[in-house]
Amino acid sequence: MRKKIFCRFCQHEIKHTFIDLGMSPLSNSYISMDKSEQGQISYPLHVRVCDQCFLVQLEEFETPSDIFNDYAYFSSFSTSWLKHAKDYVEYMVKNHDINNHSQVVEIASNDGYLLQYFKEVDIPVLGIEPAKNVAEVAKKEKGIPTISEFFGTALAQKLVSEGKKADLLLGNNVLAHVPDINDFVAGMKILLADDGIVTMEFPHLLNLIEKNQFDTIYHEHFSYLSFLTVQQIFAAHGLRLFDVQEWATHGGSLRIFACHANCSRYIVSDNVARILEKEKKAGLDQINTYLTFSESVKKVKYDLLSCLIELKRQNKNIVVYGAAAKGNTLLNYCGIRQEFIDYAVDMNPHKQNTLLPGSCIPVYSPDKIRETKPDYILILPWNLKEEIMQQLHYVKAWGAKFLLPIPEVEIVE
Ligand SMILES: [Zn+2]
Repeated sequence: MRKKIFCRFCQHEIKHTFIDLGMSPLSNSYISMDKSEQGQISYPLHVRVCDQCFLVQLEEFETPSDIFNDYAYFSSFSTSWLKHAKDYVEYMVKNHDINNHSQVVEIASNDGYLLQYFKEVDIPVLGIEPAKNVAEVAKKEKGIPTISEFFGTALAQKLVSEGKKADLLLGNNVLAHVPDINDFVAGMKILLADDGIVTMEFPHLLNLIEKNQFDTIYHEHFSYLSFLTVQQIFAAHGLRLFDVQEWATHGGSLRIFACHANCSRYIVSDNVARILEKEKKAGLDQINTYLTFSESVKKVKYDLLSCLIELKRQNKNIVVYGAAAKGNTLLNYCGIRQEFIDYAVDMNPHKQNTLLPGSCIPVYSPDKIRETKPDYILILPWNLKEEIMQQLHYVKAWGAKFLLPIPEVEIVE
């Protein structure tokens, strides 16, 4: 008999599949080159949806400490992401009176890419970053006080008992990454000062569905969030969403603003009703909307494979730019390996001279592109495509073209 699965938020039994991408290794488990002959463990990438709260979710297979141990992602390697962080800091200082007397706490503070801008203007900061190697970079290179632990009710209670409360509690791309979303949001409720403000950014489920971003599905990413579901989750823990903004980051994200449910300092913005209306119009409050997603995903697989097969029949050399997690989902789901792709390149030196998980495509420094002059460059982090195509403008010299897989397969000359 099949095992019953229950919703990570509302505990109802889950009966529906959102998308089943088959088996895949953990997308951030890059393999060292000398271990190419060893086996790799794969896990199901089967995403389901709850028909009560509409939380789209992936089951937990690995404990988070396995996933985030020696995590290879350093936020500071993306210049556009740094600018986004700096603009956020200016916005919060200007519009929400975050000042030298405020305590700012960031959950999943990574290498201090964001908190450094609060620190520059003498606003007290505290980072929380479970990946020890990344937290070390924040402490040593940027001087950001950082606790290397997972955030939840236990850590929140410990901080409060030490006299710490957050006037601004923020987290970017972390809400979707926590396996126990109830304990996480309950922890924020505990750590937030009475008049404090929470901001969180996460990829908007509406974009995932409308723009076919199935490659943002990977094992480290447990929940796929709409505003209407997040509003229910926060309300269940005594937090009220009073504003929301849409951003182009990560293919289309929401930035939500929350406060204690009984806090009267913040009035509800019109944006709240506007986003809820937009989601309802797109059918995010109907189970049927979620059940048709698989068809558009299959189409990307068929189109990308036929494009690659055609190019290989013409003896073209194809390489990959950007060894991001989302790229690994796409390559493994489509079954693309070295018969199509000569190699991948990535700016992040921690990923260079490794093999991509699953596909075992070798990763080098972007300099390799100048050396080998490939005909086609498949850009996997499509959310940074403008930035990447600009960085690679020199490939025009030998007539190379770009290949973009999502939302639909496209060749850019
Ligand atoms: Zn549910």
